Amino acid sequence: MGAHEKYEAVIGIECHVELKTASKMFCACPNAFGGDPNTNVCPVCLALPGALPVANRVAIEHMVRAGLAFGAEIPSFSKFDRKNYFYPDMPKDYQISQFDMPLTQGGEVKYWLEDGTMKTCRLTRIHLEEDTGKSTHAGSGDGRIAGSSHSLIDFNRAGVPLMECVSEPDIRSAQEAVGYLEALKRTFVQLGVSDVKMEEGSLRCDANVSIRPVGSTELGTKAEIKNMNSFRSVERAIVHEIARQIGVVDGGGRVVQETRGWDEVNGTSISMRSKEQAHDYRYFPDPDLVPIEVAPAFVERMRAQMPEVPWRRFERYRAEYGFNVKQATQLIDDPALATYFDECVAASKNPQLSLNFVLGELSRLANETGVAVAQSKVTPQEVGELIGLVEHKTINSNIAKDLLARMWEGAGSPRAIVEREGLAQTSDAGAIETLVDDVLGAHPAVVAEYKAGKTNVAGFLVGQVMKASGGKANPPMVQALIKKKLG
Ligand SMILES: [Zn+2]
Repeated sequence: MGAHEKYEAVIGIECHVELKTASKMFCACPNAFGGDPNTNVCPVCLALPGALPVANRVAIEHMVRAGLAFGAEIPSFSKFDRKNYFYPDMPKDYQISQFDMPLTQGGEVKYWLEDGTMKTCRLTRIHLEEDTGKSTHAGSGDGRIAGSSHSLIDFNRAGVPLMECVSEPDIRSAQEAVGYLEALKRTFVQLGVSDVKMEEGSLRCDANVSIRPVGSTELGTKAEIKNMNSFRSVERAIVHEIARQIGVVDGGGRVVQETRGWDEVNGTSISMRSKEQAHDYRYFPDPDLVPIEVAPAFVERMRAQMPEVPWRRFERYRAEYGFNVKQATQLIDDPALATYFDECVAASKNPQLSLNFVLGELSRLANETGVAVAQSKVTPQEVGELIGLVEHKTINSNIAKDLLARMWEGAGSPRAIVEREGLAQTSDAGAIETLVDDVLGAHPAVVAEYKAGKTNVAGFLVGQVMKASGGKANPPMVQALIKKKLG
């Protein structure tokens, strides 16, 4: 038995997600990424004396929607607390957060793995807080941070609304951790509560990892891994940490509780601080902010407006339409595209052809032109019409493709174009036979080749007939007739 089969990993994830709002959490400064340092600031987010915070209503609504998406409880009473700590990136020297009465409690995240297996990870809570500023360590002198002589602080990010999703330790592998994070991401993007751009730091996560012998129900000593800046680095860091802990235990050692920083470049982690240095945050209710009362009627109104959440959509696409994991995921990861697709199905009653058009020709046109399918001039009703024309063999697939390109330019109803321009497919046997005879007569050398056994030249002849028909001849009929004539 290999080392990995003797142990089971137990993983919990804390994930910080910046909320998408016009203004910051407690002031009117814009919630915007980038900008010159210290330009999106005001007395409140700079913590100047006497400045008072006012909670952002939209951020609280986002929290309620996020909680509802995961079936969390939304308590009717919640409050903000001060989390005290002394770092230069927080001008107040405390952060407004939520301690014992978060906006959402419990709930569960359902996610899927690459092979389609559904998994569930329980949520402990999702609470609301404010983001910190950003420190940059510069120079090469003998500052307190190795290799730097001084630190620069940008408070543009200070006060940006941030939700922290805390999971129960229900995750068992690096792959599951990534599946879980993808589920958070696609849900928040679909709800419009966050853009979830990891490269801009709007989703950041820490993983608590421990191992235990297979069959044991006790929790081992955990290490917290920080500084993972992509889903790929989360995966690598967890794989590395599980192997590191197994190495420690199998070598007769003991895992110590500590915080480790992931070093993406070297593919390793380094100890940042042990438990003894952990902070005592001395939480207490923020006296500058009134508690939050979320009316049950408001929660019910929000619940009634919730869209179909990604995992339910996934199960529907799999069970009802028989799509594979990749197809279903591709649609769901672009919520506007998935909604567009659903509307195509509603118009055409044909999921498979809708999928072919949406992920095929329409996505190709979108890539080519830089316009999203859902934002294009082609309406789902027009796609439904086009599918109807294909289903009834009024047009063949080549004409459908040409039509779609013109619809993309704004040509409108495909049925109207077909009628106006006489594009309907010709299944008139007499007319097709005339065309076939003409083509065979015009290419005696090719006909001779065919008769000598080079039957693959038939493709050329079919092409010539299709061309002569203006693309309208029924291709299977053309093929059959050529075969018959050439014996
Ligand atoms: Zn401000």
